[in-house]
Amino acid sequence: MSAHERWQLRYLDGWEASFRGDYANADTLLRDVIGHSGDAVLVTKASAMLMNDMGSNKRYEEAFELANRLTADLPRTQDKLARFLVLFYVSQQFRRAGQYDLAAVYARDMMQALPPGETSCKPQTMLISVLYENHKLTSSSPELQQGIDACQAAGEPVYSDTIWLVQDSIYLDEGQPDKAIALLNRIAPSIRANPSYYHMQDARVQLAQAYWKLGDDGKANAAALAALAASHPGDIDVTLRDAYEVLYRVAKKRRNASAALNYYEHYAVQNLGHLNDVSARTLAYDVAQQRMLAQKLETEKLSRQNNILRLQQTLARKTIETGRLYIALLLMALASVIFWLLRIKRSQLHFKRQARLDGLTGIFNHQHFISEAQRALHLLERRQGAACLVFIDLDHFKQINDTHGHAIGDALLKHTAGLCKQPLRANDLFGRLGGEEFGILLLGCLHDQGLAIAHCIRAAMEATPLDMDGRAIAFSASIGVASTQSSGFGLQRLCREADGALYKAKRSGRNRVVAHTAHEDPIKHLQPGNADP
Ligand code: GH3
Ligand code: MG
Ligand code: MG
Repeated sequence: MSAHERWQLRYLDGWEASFRGDYANADTLLRDVIGHSGDAVLVTKASAMLMNDMGSNKRYEEAFELANRLTADLPRTQDKLARFLVLFYVSQQFRRAGQYDLAAVYARDMMQALPPGETSCKPQTMLISVLYENHKLTSSSPELQQGIDACQAAGEPVYSDTIWLVQDSIYLDEGQPDKAIALLNRIAPSIRANPSYYHMQDARVQLAQAYWKLGDDGKANAAALAALAASHPGDIDVTLRDAYEVLYRVAKKRRNASAALNYYEHYAVQNLGHLNDVSARTLAYDVAQQRMLAQKLETEKLSRQNNILRLQQTLARKTIETGRLYIALLLMALASVIFWLLRIKRSQLHFKRQARLDGLTGIFNHQHFISEAQRALHLLERRQGAACLVFIDLDHFKQINDTHGHAIGDALLKHTAGLCKQPLRANDLFGRLGGEEFGILLLGCLHDQGLAIAHCIRAAMEATPLDMDGRAIAFSASIGVASTQSSGFGLQRLCREADGALYKAKRSGRNRVVAHTAHEDPIKHLQPGNADP
């Protein structure tokens, strides 16, 4: 057998033990299945069975607690047979507590989802028992015949016997003992063929009651004694109470005082036991309901606390997330501020540079050239260095503009700037002083060196006309040179003297370099290409 089959067998053994009334054994087997099988369906079935046994053994509180648990689990119980069993036993359990409406609900539920192989026989039998105990049936109620038909069709003689016995009790209650006896005689073969202890006892006692009502004391006495003989010593139940009642009445009628007293005492014990049992069941039901309510309240309190805790955790998480968001936003804001600051700084630098440069040629403008020259001369003076200031003015530039157009004039200015840069060193200063005039401050440069560079520039201009789409535009410049060696480090004087030299260069025929001389020497008009000594 597989493990599952072994557990199934164990459950069936428990069921059989329970059916036989061997409750101790049934308890062990069923609890084993519940605790260890790990099979949800078997656990449910075994629990239903165990609950029924507890009810039969007057362990009502445990039974009702289990009933509550099983009904709570019902919505999750998918297996039809397990569900059917639970409903059946729970209905029975609530009937025992006098909860007839609940018991009827569960009995009707059973009919809604019959498991394969089951019929409406068992639910109908259960419902009939509930209605009978709740005084809702008469001997002509259609439910009785319907139930009997269903059980006979289903081949369930034990259940049809149950219904017949209910009908018999109703006949007795309604004062129709002859009908009761007729019915009992009719069903006797079936009861004997399917001997259930309770059915046998019921039949005997009902027979005794019927005969008593008919005035047949002998048969009444015999039937009641038969019931006593079949009972277990110490049993307390309503059937025995009724048997003792019949015996007591017969003994009393026969004026057998001592027997009557004896039976009455037994009757009183059974009746008290029965009443105690009824109140014990009701009490146990109430206790179980209260306990369940308390548990429910406790669970709700716990779940409320859990909810609060969960909310607090969510809140804490949200706070952290919000904190992170703020930090991210702050960083983003900071980054964009830095970005904009950098952009502003860059454009400031750009504008600053633009403000220092000449727009056409890209070299220093007049203002910047002058201020840079001033600064450089200042430094140079302290270091005892030397420098030459070179002024360049294009010759007849107006004419070039007029002849070739202003655009070509502009191109020639750029071309000139490019040529002038060639012999310069990195720290030399070069600027456009205005129109077609340029200034160069050659730093660390003695007079002769300055003159040589000026010649170089002039020669380059003469040798490099502007090339405009294959058209060569020749041009020249006049250059004046002043040196710190003769003029000192004052910029104003240097400018004046370089300008004077330039003027002289113009006056003496243009396209030449003239150096300022410190003495009243006659101005040396240099021929093109000749260096000033
Ligand atoms: P000189 O040999 O005596 O120096 O004669 P010049 O024609 O070069 O001298 P003048 O000072 O009379 O003329 C300078 C001309 O330069 C006048 C002006 O139209 C022109 N000019 C000044 N700035 C610019 C400029 O940015 N672009 C152009 N294309 N021409 C300019
Ligand atoms: Mg000029
Ligand atoms: Mg000029």
